[in-house]
Amino acid sequence: MKLVSACLMGIHCRFDGKSSLDTDIQQLVIEGKAVPICPEQIGGLSTPRLPAEIIGGTGEDVLDGKAKVMNMEGEDVTEAFIRGAEEVLRIAKTVGATEAILKERSPSCGSNVIYNGTFQGIKQAGNGVTAALLKRNGIQVKSEETENETTFK
Ligand code: SF4
Repeated sequence: MKLVSACLMGIHCRFDGKSSLDTDIQQLVIEGKAVPICPEQIGGLSTPRLPAEIIGGTGEDVLDGKAKVMNMEGEDVTEAFIRGAEEVLRIAKTVGATEAILKERSPSCGSNVIYNGTFQGIKQAGNGVTAALLKRNGIQVKSEETENETTFK
């Protein structure tokens, strides 16, 4: 079983109230091979919501208490991001997921690239908070952009 970012299967759970539909990933859910999750909604944030970025580090740093997640009005939403990551890990364990395909660049779901906390569209290498927690717990995390076609067979 896999976890997939809910926005990739067409759920309108993004900060702007839209989805990031990827029909290959949607098909995995239709076939019962993947469970959709949205850590930011599960963590208690509303949709739509203000964009947020990790300030001062990466998802690992947030988990370690060395960085924060702030929205673009300066509100600290770290607690919601950590709560969402922990609940997603709980879902992963419950369904026996060993792999996740998550939306790149998200402060929760990004697994190679995230934004650098300046809200200027500048990217940096790193994991989002949920991706970091899943990786720490032995779950293989890929993005929809780096995933190769064999996943969808
Ligand atoms: S938190 Fe993840 S699943 Fe939810 S909208 Fe953002 S990228 Fe998609």
